Amino acid sequence: MAKPSVCIERSESYNYKEVREGVNRLIEGLGGLSMYFQPGEKIFLKMNLLIKKRPEEGVTTHPIFVQAVGDALKEFGCHVIIGDSPGGPFTKGLLKAIYKTCGVEKIAEESGFTLNYNTEGVTKKVNNGKVLQEITVMKALEEVEHVISLSKLKTHGMMKYTGAVKNMYGIIPGLIKAEYHFKMPAIETFSDMLVDVCSFKEPTLSFMDGIVGMEGEGPSSGDLRKVGAMIASSNPYALDFIACQLVGIDPLEVPTIQRSIERNFLSGNHEDIHIVGSSMESFSLKPFITPAITDVNFFKGRVPEFLVGPMSRFLLPRPVFDHEICVSCGDCGKVCPAQVISFKKTKGYTKGKPYADLTGCIRCFCCQELCPVKAVRIKRSKIGARLFKL
Ligand code: SF4
Ligand code: SF4
Repeated sequence: MAKPSVCIERSESYNYKEVREGVNRLIEGLGGLSMYFQPGEKIFLKMNLLIKKRPEEGVTTHPIFVQAVGDALKEFGCHVIIGDSPGGPFTKGLLKAIYKTCGVEKIAEESGFTLNYNTEGVTKKVNNGKVLQEITVMKALEEVEHVISLSKLKTHGMMKYTGAVKNMYGIIPGLIKAEYHFKMPAIETFSDMLVDVCSFKEPTLSFMDGIVGMEGEGPSSGDLRKVGAMIASSNPYALDFIACQLVGIDPLEVPTIQRSIERNFLSGNHEDIHIVGSSMESFSLKPFITPAITDVNFFKGRVPEFLVGPMSRFLLPRPVFDHEICVSCGDCGKVCPAQVISFKKTKGYTKGKPYADLTGCIRCFCCQELCPVKAVRIKRSKIGARLFKL
């Protein structure tokens, strides 16, 4: 296996000049754009635009980071198209609102990037997939020569960490993502699927915005942490491995990294990755606080069948809705892959409030990810946490 390179550079802020200089160093560290692209090619910058949030909320890839990468590509002579399929329905109206709020509309105007509004999907055969035989992806990807993953360094309630590989899940249009969640609720199968998606449309390069990351209840309800790092690689699996180590997450505990090692996309040894640019030691960070993850099928085969339901219901981490904060927008009900969220008239409120039927809940935590006002928390039982360490 050839030794992949991962380049790390510092940026203390989202000041354009500082970020752009850092991005230039990242590109040089990876051998220059001419190693990967030809002038005149169309390149799709696949951001993480999970939900309509302002850049400073740290949920989405920061627009200044995207602008710096896009400007470098434009100067090289490439055409830049920016897009994502955020959580929820994939519609032009929603895209427009997200581009505006996330600061992408502004950088596209300033730098002359094209924003993707093609919401069609196309179904393709997957060769060498572990769990996917076919996949539905954004049709817009058919019109470009390359995809670049522009992820954000964050923790994740179901997958512990989300980075370059998981970012590619957003090439699946809109609510079709919920179908994939529902069909593959177990963490192992779901992470195999994420690796299938990434290897189906492997980004030519991956860049990670780790200038400000998110720890705790990521990917949308956690706490912001200044890391000051920008990371890039032509190998998204190696990038994730190093990004985890940088913020004190054991990469071998991250399901997508485990799966990529099983599939020989990565050796799993730090020594087998060539680090370029700033040394990891120079960041000297306190480790990120990470969510404890537990498979939805944890109790199957461990306890008598009649106890699986009740124990799963009360001891697995579960979504809890804070009705005081909830604005009754209905989004969690729309995105719930298992369709177990119902809205009921609740004393003291004029609008219906969400309740989840935990018997059918697959613990994907999409409701928490996509709630616009952080009204969904993941409740973890202390007894459950002790059991999961068995
Ligand atoms: S209630 Fe939340 S965690 Fe449970 S299946 Fe629905 S979206 Fe996933
Ligand atoms: S919990 Fe969040 S997503 Fe669900 S209805 Fe309330 S505000 Fe909307």
